Amino acid sequence: MPQAVPPQVVADSPLAGEGGWVRPDCETLLTRFERVYAAGDCTASPPPKAGIFAEAEARVAARNFAAEIDGGPGDRFNGTGYCFLEFPGQRASALEGPFFAQPPEVRLAEPDTETFVRKQAFETERLRDWLDVGVS
Ligand SMILES: Cc1cc2nc3c(=O)[nH]c(=O)nc-3n(C[C@H](O)[C@H](O)[C@H](O)COP(=O)(O)OP(=O)(O)OC[C@H]3O[C@@H](n4cnc5c(N)ncnc54)[C@H](O)[C@@H]3O)c2cc1C
Repeated sequence: MPQAVPPQVVADSPLAGEGGWVRPDCETLLTRFERVYAAGDCTASPPPKAGIFAEAEARVAARNFAAEIDGGPGDRFNGTGYCFLEFPGQRASALEGPFFAQPPEVRLAEPDTETFVRKQAFETERLRDWLDVGVS
């Protein structure tokens, strides 16, 4: 499998830390620069590089940025996430848990119909909220 490397534009920037990755505080997502946050695949945060973490980190970063401007409590990312695996027979399983734990305390549940429904709802929400696409 090819090794993950940071995008050159990130590695060349003042934001880059060791290995060329951005290394924000893993709970607040704040970088060492005032009011500059980093989330997702360009970071060397502990959770794996996955969309579910990029989304959750970005929400925390946005709330903290807004709190800096408008006041408010801000937010902290707790490292919890999941990944669905689909199985034949309209069943799915989720690999989930707290990824900040060392080692990560993730568990893979047995595939079932409830998780398949949860996976479908997850997909429908994102297609609707991000792309304005309805699913019939
Ligand atoms: C084949 C594959 C399957 C995956 N499956 C899953 C999955 O099932 N579940 C899951 O959770 N995650 C999955 N992932 C991981 C997930 O896609 C990433 O973790 C997620 O997209 C990271 O989001 P991001 O916004 O940090 O980065 P990206 O989605 O990579 O977004 C970065 C954006 O920056 C833009 N960009 C790059 N350079 C520049 C530049 N110089 N100037 C301006 N813009 C620039 C890019 O065009 C891109 O739009 C998968 C990834 C791959 C490749």
